[in-house]
Amino acid sequence: MGVFDIDQDKLAAARDRLLAEIAANARETANWTGRSQFSDAVMAAMAKVPRHEFVRREDIVAAYVNRPQSIGHGQTISQPYIVALMTNLLDLNASRRVLEIGTGSGYQTAVLAELGGKVFSLECVDKLAGPARKRLAGMGYDNVEVQTGDGFDGWPEQGPFDAIIVTAAPERIPDALVEQLAPGGRMIIPLGRVHETQFLTLVTKDTDGRVSEQNMLPVAFVPMVRGPMVRRIG
Ligand code: SAH
Repeated sequence: MGVFDIDQDKLAAARDRLLAEIAANARETANWTGRSQFSDAVMAAMAKVPRHEFVRREDIVAAYVNRPQSIGHGQTISQPYIVALMTNLLDLNASRRVLEIGTGSGYQTAVLAELGGKVFSLECVDKLAGPARKRLAGMGYDNVEVQTGDGFDGWPEQGPFDAIIVTAAPERIPDALVEQLAPGGRMIIPLGRVHETQFLTLVTKDTDGRVSEQNMLPVAFVPMVRGPMVRRIG
């Protein structure tokens, strides 16, 4: 099947359905997240980024189902509603510097890039980082940098960051990420042990540098892996 054989009307209809579901999910989880509605900018980014271009060829029709999907190398592209929620909780604007840990397919990266600002994304699996970098550049996102690296170290050369988003789950908040969060900054991160309930957690640093944490929502992310594992997977 060539790229021109995709039924664009079907994709557009599926995308509209997905946006309605995301809005409904936001209302249903408002007690947990404190947000019954996502911003217009976030919903516009969700509408614009072509999710089917971030999944494997055989998964294109499923790209707009509100579920996570496999992207190979034992990794997944997150559920659209979770991508929207995490993006919304960062309260981004065009002057923000954003650090993302776990580029994966680059889908979340593209949604962040749509909101302006500058996005720095780290991925520990080289075979995912390369294709994601190419895909994002090919789609015209020139406010994105993707690098192979270990998210536990963050990206000190480019910090501090106004926002940090982590899309793999460590057990505890990595110290380097707290250090690289700017005063007034916001970090959204899933925390928990493998095979146990993880909690999406909002970490904020006030202008005096005081850090506080707020549990949001039970979630299921792939584990964030440390250095030695990085090499074995790659
Ligand atoms: N945001 C991605 C989904 C990522 S799945 C998307 O939209 O497609 C989590 C990703 O985190 C995986 O690609 C995994 O390889 C990566 N990852 C796990 N541990 C990491 C670490 N220590 N540093 C950087 N990336 C890591």
